[in-house]
Amino acid sequence: MTTTEEIYHLYQQHPVISTDTRSIAPGSLFFALKGDKFDANTFAEKAIEAGAAYAIIDNPEYAKGDKFLLVEDVLTSLQDLARHHRKQLTIPVIGLTGTNGKTTTKELINAVLSQKFNTLATKGNLNNHIGVPLTILTIDSSHEMAVIEMGANHQKEIALLCSIAQPSHGMITNVGKAHLEGFGGVEGVKIGKGELYDFLNEDASRVAFINSDDNTLQEMQKTRSLQNVVYYGKTINNDNLVTGKLLENAPLLSFKWNDKKSSSYNVKSQLTGSYNLDNILAAVCIGTFFGLDSDEINAGIEGYQPKNNRSQIMQTASNTLICDFYNANPSSMFVAIENMDKVKADRKVVILGDMFEMGPESAVEHTAVIQKALAANVDERIFIGKDFSSQQTEVDNSNLINATFYLTAEDAIIGLKENPIKNATVLIKGSRGMALERLVELL
Ligand code: ATP
Ligand code: MG
Repeated sequence: MTTTEEIYHLYQQHPVISTDTRSIAPGSLFFALKGDKFDANTFAEKAIEAGAAYAIIDNPEYAKGDKFLLVEDVLTSLQDLARHHRKQLTIPVIGLTGTNGKTTTKELINAVLSQKFNTLATKGNLNNHIGVPLTILTIDSSHEMAVIEMGANHQKEIALLCSIAQPSHGMITNVGKAHLEGFGGVEGVKIGKGELYDFLNEDASRVAFINSDDNTLQEMQKTRSLQNVVYYGKTINNDNLVTGKLLENAPLLSFKWNDKKSSSYNVKSQLTGSYNLDNILAAVCIGTFFGLDSDEINAGIEGYQPKNNRSQIMQTASNTLICDFYNANPSSMFVAIENMDKVKADRKVVILGDMFEMGPESAVEHTAVIQKALAANVDERIFIGKDFSSQQTEVDNSNLINATFYLTAEDAIIGLKENPIKNATVLIKGSRGMALERLVELL
């Protein structure tokens, strides 16, 4: 069997990893991972033909010469290699987890820190047991800092990702209702996400950035007596390194922030959604902590424009759209509806699609979202999907005002063609599987 040290030695000469034979980088190390449908051991030879320097495999049948390195388990070997590489690095590694806002906060932190440092951040949403090691293995000697997103839908996953990325700094954006099925309810989510705090607490030099307005995070930190905490928030509080205040949400956010020296700065962001102020303040806090000046921090925030269907503003001929069809869960639905309640606009419409992976709490949570939307200060509500539709009967009929239910997105498309929406600010939000981007051309 080939050891991690031996593979690391080859990695130093071949520092690019490939896992897909359709895109083999010449001279790369090919890791033959197993997917749901494929066993990449069967593609190892093809990878070498396509230019990979070595193929790491775990089935001896496919070893066709000295370019094939046999290991016990390819995935573990990839993770071990990443962990070994991380141990050689002395740069700050910021690990980010949480229920909502990880990618947005990661992008914002990177937008800020890259004003001063050569940073490496997770690409897109590569935040799992494969994405994190692949990201770590793209850090090279030119990088001065790394920002690593860590996602989880079950216990022990964050502990594993921490053992690989070994964050010197970390933050949990928030703890809410998502992946309830895999975590076993909200208490399970708290334990799962708390694995980041557990890791930070193993070493007094590791720093946790915490939103001081978030009671759940405060409670989680107190039960562990975290040793090294830096706070940020919206409530004025002497402990905060950075405090911020929303100025306008129309629907782009303007805000002001100040540091401990009490200078105050006004900033206009390209983000919408009042919940995004928490994400922005996290990035401002981390920028301040790492010694960036206010011009650098503000340039980073002002320059960040989401292009990833996460609270992204799109102006069409008829409407202003808040495209949030990347994902949805009860927590993010609630804050998105609260935001629509407050946003400044003449006409407001919410289009909400089913939330997936909800387990036994699905019915209750869909009903709660319907009620939240009915109570919000908006002009029209459209619910799409079988989970919302099946809860329609749970709501008192007299409350179902300006509310339409469609069983499928196809039905909604027909409905929107018959009754087009015009001159409105429209929130479109649902789970990825609902693919609500299909509605955009009708709006
Ligand atoms: P994933 O689990 O898919 O990686 P994520 O945690 O990376 O998600 P983002 O992709 O940044 O989160 O944001 C997804 C959606 O979550 C946003 O479009 C928005 O609706 C919501 N959201 C973002 N930030 C917050 C926040 N601080 N609190 C609540 N909801 C948020
Ligand atoms: Mg993400």
